[in-house]
Amino acid sequence: MDNKTLHDRFRHQLTNVHAITVLTVSVIEIVGYIIMVISGVESFSPKNAYLWYGVVFPIVVNVITHLVARAIGENPKVSRKRKNKCIITAALITSFVVAVIHKEYIVTSCAFIFPIVLSAMFNDRKLLNMSFAASVFIHACVGAAFWIEEGITLTTGLNLLILLGFTFVSYLCGIISINFSGQNYITIESQAEQNDKLMDDVQRDQMTGLYNHNAFTNKLDEMIKDHSAENALCLVMVDVDNFKKINDTYGHDCGDTVLIHLAKTIQKHCTQNDSAYRYGGEEFAVIFLGKSTDAVCDIMQNILDEFRSYTFAFTSSPITFSAGVAKYTSETTRDTFFEQADKTLYMAKHEGKNRVLAAPKSAAVR
Ligand code: GH3
Ligand code: MG
Ligand code: MG
Repeated sequence: MDNKTLHDRFRHQLTNVHAITVLTVSVIEIVGYIIMVISGVESFSPKNAYLWYGVVFPIVVNVITHLVARAIGENPKVSRKRKNKCIITAALITSFVVAVIHKEYIVTSCAFIFPIVLSAMFNDRKLLNMSFAASVFIHACVGAAFWIEEGITLTTGLNLLILLGFTFVSYLCGIISINFSGQNYITIESQAEQNDKLMDDVQRDQMTGLYNHNAFTNKLDEMIKDHSAENALCLVMVDVDNFKKINDTYGHDCGDTVLIHLAKTIQKHCTQNDSAYRYGGEEFAVIFLGKSTDAVCDIMQNILDEFRSYTFAFTSSPITFSAGVAKYTSETTRDTFFEQADKTLYMAKHEGKNRVLAAPKSAAVR
């Protein structure tokens, strides 16, 4: 499942939480009203007026707010951030309606912590700042309303300060949660990078840095599967000439130097469409895509020219290789394709080494 779908599901669930809040508040308002009527509480007369402004009005406003938030949340044209803002605004409106209706500001303004919590869950710092600012503003309004209506007593002042403190603590928790998620995200990213590197390491030959035998067989299968007549596919098998003698005469380390240098030279001549592999020992394979057999032979000849003209520190004698080039056709299978390149390589050896040869069927022998 991609991130977008996961995020949409997350927001959808939070929208459902808002629906539950609206439902709970509505039920409490209705039940509260019925109890007040039955028990004949005097402060609720005239009953009809309270029914409208204390029960019907908040229910209607909350339900409409919820339906609008849900519709926006499900609109594919609205951006993800806007949808998040929309559900936070719905939570703020619901909190505000309850606070205003009951005038129990000090208790109900607790509800303004709800949007802060939601913002933290969305992992959005800007949204969190917005909710915190809205919450502080509402607390300030509550304070002002008290000041004007009743004058602030020591108790109400302290209660307001305590609420402000809790709001601030919720905000801090939100910041910590967002930072922590950020760290988690960085950890997941770096683990993914490490995995990629590990996967790449597994496919590489440590000494030459080229892809290894396994990577070669996988890539060859993949290229054959995707092969199209417009994009010529060529395989070249390369083998260092008289390599055993190099090892025996100058030592294994010098032999390694030769292999590393040949790998670098091949790599230098490969374009984005080509890929080079250490097939094993002193044998290499190169896959060329979108190049004719002649073009591939030219590239391999350039590689041979450059390689044999290089003077190694341990010998002034040129070191050479032989190469066999095969072209893939629709009649060729994976095995016969490989065999063709390999056989051509041994033909090159047989003809005196130090040369690039194309498979007889696919191009003129050079
Ligand atoms: P030809 O010209 O016919 O290819 O003869 P060659 O001597 O190159 O071929 P042969 O198969 O007789 O010898 C290959 C040698 O390559 C034998 C093996 O010890 C050596 N070799 C294989 N892998 C490595 C390696 O990683 N480093 C070094 N230094 N030598 C290696
Ligand atoms: Mg060999
Ligand atoms: Mg050899």
